[in-house]
Amino acid sequence: MQFESLGLSAPLLRAVAEQGYTTPSPIQQKAIPVVLEGRDLMAAAQTGTGKTAGFTLPMLQRLTESQRRVSPNQVRALVLAPTRELAAQVGESVREYGKHLPVRSHVVFGGVSINPQMMAMRRGLDVLVACPGRLLDLYNQKAVRFDELEILVLDEADRMLDMGFIRDIRKILALLPKKRQNLLFSATFADEIRELATGLLNDPAVVEV
Ligand code: AMP
Repeated sequence: MQFESLGLSAPLLRAVAEQGYTTPSPIQQKAIPVVLEGRDLMAAAQTGTGKTAGFTLPMLQRLTESQRRVSPNQVRALVLAPTRELAAQVGESVREYGKHLPVRSHVVFGGVSINPQMMAMRRGLDVLVACPGRLLDLYNQKAVRFDELEILVLDEADRMLDMGFIRDIRKILALLPKKRQNLLFSATFADEIRELATGLLNDPAVVEV
């Protein structure tokens, strides 16, 4: 199996080749076609499996296919991550894989000044990678709005629940438009994850690696 057979566009294939990847990992082989189709996805995948590219590559393709211009303070795709380290890593992947595409992205987490983050929201973003608490702070400051949201990704959902983010996540979900694509990644499908998934995902493809 080659990246070329997954249906990814030339600018993404170029970025992948520049990363030195030759073969898609199992999670990438399974997740990428599902996400490109626009379906919801529930994926069990540990860190190190290549899951980040598994959602980032098709997410970027869908965002650039529709070529929509985002309005001020709006976000087209939101990736929620439990820790600043993971958020920064995902943000770096978005930048790398999207480097040949006109994609505007940003990463926000707590523990640092909120003002530069509010400034970065002003023009609107194609992709925002965020930790839940700081995202709610930005929403309460009216710095971010979700009327134009198309894609939601919950990365390492099990860790988010372990860290006590469930209430923040539920608050965020209540702010999002109903019609959107949802991708949930978790190391395990524990009961709480299945419960979250039931309320969140619409006829998802289920992928385990
Ligand atoms: P992740 O599981 O998303 O944290 O990715 C783990 C590591 O695998 C990262 O350093 C990626 O750069 C790398 N990686 C992702 N996809 C591939 C691939 N298809 N071939 C080789 N390395 C990859």
